[in-house]
Amino acid sequence: MIKYLLFDLDNTLYSIRCGLEENVSKRIRTFLAAWMGMGEEEAMAERRKGVVNYGTTLEWLMEEKNFTDVEGYYRFVHPEGEVDSLRPDPELREFLSGLPYPKAILTNSNREHVDRVLVRLELGDIFTHIFDMRWNNLKGKPHPDVFRRVLGVLEKSPEEVLFIDDYPKYVTGFNVLGGAGVLLDELDSYPDFPGRRIRNIREIVKFL
Ligand SMILES: [Mg+2]
Repeated sequence: MIKYLLFDLDNTLYSIRCGLEENVSKRIRTFLAAWMGMGEEEAMAERRKGVVNYGTTLEWLMEEKNFTDVEGYYRFVHPEGEVDSLRPDPELREFLSGLPYPKAILTNSNREHVDRVLVRLELGDIFTHIFDMRWNNLKGKPHPDVFRRVLGVLEKSPEEVLFIDDYPKYVTGFNVLGGAGVLLDELDSYPDFPGRRIRNIREIVKFL
C-alpha cells in the first residue's frame, strides 16, 4: 500500500517541452569542453563513455577526472534566471494538493535549483522533504544508498513509496530495491520500458 509520494523534479514536475533541462544540458556541454580543454563534441563523447557508470555528470567528473570545483559547476550549470521559461501551474498544484499522501522530492540537482523551480511553479509548500545532491553527499540516483537513505528518513519501506521520475535508469534503480517506481514518459520515448509507464503525471492515481 502506497504511503508516500516521491517525485523527481526536472521534467517531472514541469513539462519536458519547456526546454529548461535542454538548456542545462547545453551548459554542461560548454562547461565540460572548457574544463577538459577540448571541443564540445569530443568532451561529450568522453562523457557518454564514462557517465554510464554513474547517476550524474558531476559524479563521473569527481570519480574519474579528479574534479573538485563542485560549487563552480553548480553556479555555471544552474545560473540565476535558469527558470525563466517556467510558468506557475495552478492545475498541477490543485492536483498534488488533492492527493491525500505526503510528498517529497528526490533530485540529482542542487538545492538552489530546486528552490528556484519550486518558487517559479508556486509549489514550494507542497513537499515535506527535498533530498538534493548535497544532502546525498553528491551521490545521485540510481545509487541504492541514495534511495535507502531517503526511505530511512521517510520511515517507509520501498513498496510503500511511489517514486515518479522521467529517467528510466532511476526508476529501474528504485524498482530493483523492491520499490514502486513509475516512469513519466511524456513524449513516448521509452515504449519498451519494462516497468510501469505513464504519459502524464496525473495518471499516478492509477497506482494509489
Ligand atoms: Mg528528471
